Amino acid sequence: MEVPFADLGREVAAMRDEIDAAIARVIESGWFVLGEEGRAFEREFAAAMGAVHAVGVASGTDAIELGLRATGVGVGDEVITQANTCVPTVAGITRSGATPVLCDVNPESATINIASLEGAIGNRTRAVVPVHLYGQCADVDGISALCKPRGIAVVEDCAQAHGATLSGRGAGTMGDAGAFSFYPTKNLGAIGDGGAVVTSDPELAERLKLLRVYGQADRYRHVVEGVNSRLDELQAAILRVKLPRLEAANERRAEIAAAYTEALADARVAPLALLPGRRHAFHLYVVRVAERELFMKRMAALGIATLIHYPLPIHRQPAYTHLADGPVALSASDALAERIVSLPVYPQLTDGEVEHVCAALGSFS
Ligand SMILES: *Cc1c(COP(=O)(O)O)cnc(C)c1O
Repeated sequence: MEVPFADLGREVAAMRDEIDAAIARVIESGWFVLGEEGRAFEREFAAAMGAVHAVGVASGTDAIELGLRATGVGVGDEVITQANTCVPTVAGITRSGATPVLCDVNPESATINIASLEGAIGNRTRAVVPVHLYGQCADVDGISALCKPRGIAVVEDCAQAHGATLSGRGAGTMGDAGAFSFYPTKNLGAIGDGGAVVTSDPELAERLKLLRVYGQADRYRHVVEGVNSRLDELQAAILRVKLPRLEAANERRAEIAAAYTEALADARVAPLALLPGRRHAFHLYVVRVAERELFMKRMAALGIATLIHYPLPIHRQPAYTHLADGPVALSASDALAERIVSLPVYPQLTDGEVEHVCAALGSFS
């Protein structure tokens, strides 16, 4: 049996008629950028995430950049994030004009380590970007307790956490703003690129709406230096088909994750810790295993695709080695990168495929 790591075709096939109808609706409207579909999606997405405002942008990276810029971040500022994240987190920080600074994570959960974050805060720190890595919320309360008194903004990277919660609050609603990606493989994915920033602050939402359209306040009157970053009508219309299915899809992910965790009870493989008070969105199901190469080979021999998220922490990426000389040690991120492996966890996996993976996991003992 072959279990691919992802299979976007299966997801689209299940809602093909509705997607085709949404695409036709946009084409027939003759309005393709910043229109009714986008506005309707922004309202529906904000409500689904538990936020007041959502502003559509062109990608998750842009959502991070513009979310930071809307909170006042710019050239000369430092923005802290965790070392074991996806590169776009850091690309978004750099594009805001700020200098990224890395801190370490908790080895059990791969979420930001509060003591390390505290050590990384300096005079120029203007914002923190906690990453809800793999779909599990970081300790945003601990982060805010450090940031609020110092006037440091918190922009959550929610690219892997659509629908995740912490103490009943949605990912993206706990800091000043939350940055989402609709890259096709995310829990809520477009058929192309897309992103959104959510916030409860109406002024921040207004600034975002200026920034995404070259700072234009009225036609051809530009009040800030912005960019071109919009969620187009086609993607918005397609996302409106998928959004009502997000909840059920996340439940299916959790069900698959629970089956894997049970299968791992006696194996030489340990899932990352589930932190209390959270609803994990299981964008990825990540385990730690000492004999990683052997494990991945065994899985591959059984037809099960695995990947590593991410094999190199940011400061080990050739483009970012200069970030290794930061204020704090990044040893937990380095150690995790040696042992982590991700298993297929998308909602369209069949029960038979899940059982096949579980049997394979159980045999690795
Ligand atoms: C996917 C992702 C992003 C960036 O999203 P794009 O839409 O690809 O720009 C940012 N951060 C994390 C953690 C991601 O997984």
